[in-house]
Amino acid sequence: MINFEVITLFPEFFAPYKKSGILKNACDDKLIDINIHNLRDFTTDKRKTVDDKPFGGGVGMVMMIEPIFKAVESIKKGKSRVILFTPRGKKYDQKTAHRLSKTDQIIMICGRYEGVDERVAKHIADEEISIGDYVLMGGEIPAMVVIESVSRLVPMVVGTDDFLKKRTKSVSAIEYPQFTRPAVYGKWAVPSVLLSGDHKRIEEWRDKNKKIL
Ligand code: SAM
Repeated sequence: MINFEVITLFPEFFAPYKKSGILKNACDDKLIDINIHNLRDFTTDKRKTVDDKPFGGGVGMVMMIEPIFKAVESIKKGKSRVILFTPRGKKYDQKTAHRLSKTDQIIMICGRYEGVDERVAKHIADEEISIGDYVLMGGEIPAMVVIESVSRLVPMVVGTDDFLKKRTKSVSAIEYPQFTRPAVYGKWAVPSVLLSGDHKRIEEWRDKNKKIL
């Protein structure tokens, strides 16, 4: 059985999704399991804060490392793979779906706002996945894409193992690493240039570290 674990700020998106069609049957038949985790449940302050302003300035808010770190730590068990959805990640394809279908537990981090503190990509996620060269509002639809494409590769979800074997023969955005509070999390520190207040150097650093999609 594959366990899909979705970390999201919008758990309600997944309620009808889980209760419909083939996925519902697959869950009822214990071929897969879909667990939705509200990121705000892993915050420690009264306001359940999950985001903060980007170091070095810039528009929008960045999702903080701490609630994500805590969520992943509490969910992770066995042979797991942690995926962070980002528009700059490796383009998702059927080969990746096949690879993931051999995993026991797939933990998916759904970003929102201006994205996620870069240390999540570097130290928490095993891989970054993009579902295409366009920017969505959040990682919830990418999570659904992964759940659907991987689930249909699980024997008996849409067909027997034999059926599956036969069937299977067959520059719009600039992204740079972002960080927000705290400046140091455990052993992981934000690049000092972003704390310098020197906008020219910050721009140069971002230019050097950017990826054009
Ligand atoms: N500059 C941000 C970044 O690098 O992630 C864009 C943030 S986007 C408005 C909010 C979230 O939507 C992202 O953190 C990511 O989780 C998700 N997202 C947006 N486009 C995506 C794509 N093409 N593939 C996968 N996830 C995407």
